[in-house]
Amino acid sequence: MGEKFDLAIIGGGTTGLFAAYYATMRQMKVVLIEAQEQLGGKVMQFLPEKLIYDVGGFPEITGETLVDQMIEQANRHEPEILVGDFVEQIEKTNDKFQLMTAKGKKLSAETVMLATGTGTFHTRRPDEWAEIPDSRFKASVPTSLMDRSSYQDKKVVIASNSKVGIGWAINLQEIASNIVILNSHDTFLQAKQEELAKLQEAGIEVYYNVKITNFLTVNKELEKITFLHNNGQEKTVEADKLLTYHGLELQAAPFETWGISTAKGRISVDHFMKTNVEGIFAAGDIVQYPGKTTLIASGYTEAITAVNHAHMLINPKATEQLYSTVIYQRGKRL
Ligand SMILES: Cc1cc2nc3c(=O)[nH]c(=O)nc-3n(C[C@H](O)[C@H](O)[C@H](O)COP(=O)(O)OP(=O)(O)OC[C@H]3O[C@@H](n4cnc5c(N)ncnc54)[C@H](O)[C@@H]3O)c2cc1C
Repeated sequence: MGEKFDLAIIGGGTTGLFAAYYATMRQMKVVLIEAQEQLGGKVMQFLPEKLIYDVGGFPEITGETLVDQMIEQANRHEPEILVGDFVEQIEKTNDKFQLMTAKGKKLSAETVMLATGTGTFHTRRPDEWAEIPDSRFKASVPTSLMDRSSYQDKKVVIASNSKVGIGWAINLQEIASNIVILNSHDTFLQAKQEELAKLQEAGIEVYYNVKITNFLTVNKELEKITFLHNNGQEKTVEADKLLTYHGLELQAAPFETWGISTAKGRISVDHFMKTNVEGIFAAGDIVQYPGKTTLIASGYTEAITAVNHAHMLINPKATEQLYSTVIYQRGKRL
């Protein structure tokens, strides 16, 4: 069996990242495994450009900045962080957990924390893109609005049939030099009238019922996009940047095969964030208990509780909580 850890954290969203920091602050040997290539979970995937107002200490902060700072904090005591791999199996043998990932990585841990949210959201790409050559470019088209300043003075094309595309267009209109939306449907899914009205007020050009047929790139940089109207006419637009959103597919963690009890897809935990399996804890959006809120800050508190009790399980003499102010002043971690 591969490397051995005190705590294996499954999921690198805001809850898992904070748990990685907190557990290493308590000197636990930690591995965090995240299925996506990027850390930050839902906040990075769906809210990178949005302002968040209810995280203590930040009057307002974008999702992307919050996650960047969380990654910096998580790395302070160097946990092992693996990205782009999905934990498929967890088995308990001799009081230790053996984890196996989709890429075949084996890990051994004394305790486990499930910080999986409701699962991994894979973004879909339009079926018709399969016919377009240049697979490397297609695979690299962003599906969330990160690094907003990189859109400054750029000609932006948004390929989307969703209200998410409208949100991006409105967000970027003050900095982009031009925005065009290419919608493969005759409507924007889930869009409210007021969102459509905003789009019209902003004068953003929208083409409906179109099918993208080619991306022209020069030295890997996008230059033009060609698309077909449903009237058969072909048109080309200039583009420096392309963003796309065509919905999601959810890959849930296989809790049942791991022996974890769930109700309506959520894991029931006790006051200590323990699941029904001794040694497996859970925190964040995936858990359920009376009074549960699905917020970033709730995940932080639950992560602290779970880590402290995982630590006490390994070392019964460990204290239930610590003040970071005190331990860092003493120059040590406990
Ligand atoms: C539109 C919207 C707006 C929101 N606004 C706010 C707000 O203003 N303020 C606020 O506090 N909260 C807000 N939230 C809620 C907030 O986003 C969540 O509470 C928070 O992101 C939950 O974090 P998490 O780490 O528990 O789960 P997630 O962010 O879902 O992260 C879970 C991670 O686990 C990974 N994972 C799952 N299964 C596996 C596996 N088997 N192996 C490896 N990795 C796995 C997933 O890929 C994912 O990255 C909002 C949510 C939405 C959708």
